[in-house]
Amino acid sequence: MPLQFFSVNISSAIFNCSAPDLDSCPDESLPEFAFIGRSNVGKSSLLNLLAGKDLARVSPTPGFTKLINIFTMNQCWRLVDLPGYGFAQVARQDRSRFNQAVDEYLRHRTNLCLVFALLDSGLPPQAIDLEFVEWLARHAVPFVLVFTKTDKVSAATVQANITAFTDHIARWFEKSPAVFTCSAAARRGRPELLGVIDEAMTAIQSVPIQATPDGGSGSEAGAMTGRKARSRDTNKSRPDRSRPW
Ligand code: GDP
Repeated sequence: MPLQFFSVNISSAIFNCSAPDLDSCPDESLPEFAFIGRSNVGKSSLLNLLAGKDLARVSPTPGFTKLINIFTMNQCWRLVDLPGYGFAQVARQDRSRFNQAVDEYLRHRTNLCLVFALLDSGLPPQAIDLEFVEWLARHAVPFVLVFTKTDKVSAATVQANITAFTDHIARWFEKSPAVFTCSAAARRGRPELLGVIDEAMTAIQSVPIQATPDGGSGSEAGAMTGRKARSRDTNKSRPDRSRPW
């Protein structure tokens, strides 16, 4: 594994698999960075911008992606495209199935380093997004907020919507999650978001490689360390309840 520049320069992006559930995901040997948001938030466009190629189909039909799509980047980390939530027109049975897969992935994937929770910067706080962020907090899932489509509205509106959202969620955290902005249309935010991944990868790399009791690899141990350390840092522990979205 190279010592630096894990992600800022993406030299390879290889489709790994489309997993219908956690059991179908590949082994946990590489750190994973997951992207999720309400359908139509601009996730596919952002992933294509980050990868520098057409990773996910930019879909004219919201909710197209129902599987966990996994890509191996630079041979050393994985980009995970999680199904969008809150798409009312998906049949009820399908909805519960993909929500279950996301629920399990977010709660049990030990090599999950960080979730990028995408929010539309042109909208005031949406109930479903607030519920999702509260769920992330309750389950101590490490995440950052990414406000998309900043080209669509004025900078003042973007700022007002970000402030309204972060004010609303502040009481759920001892330390507020980091906030980023981006626009796939204006090609803004790429270095900042890839920089977050680079920083996390550098931190994982700095964790000494240790033999695990079951003979597992040190990189997995590092990924788990990153997940636990970050969530302990930012999230208050909260009582469990079933996922709201
Ligand atoms: P997904 O459903 O979250 O994957 O969203 P898509 O990436 O498919 O985008 C949904 C719609 O928003 C499409 O019509 C895109 O062209 C549009 N879109 C995505 N990103 C941006 C952006 O940064 N700015 C603007 N103005 N439109 C965007």
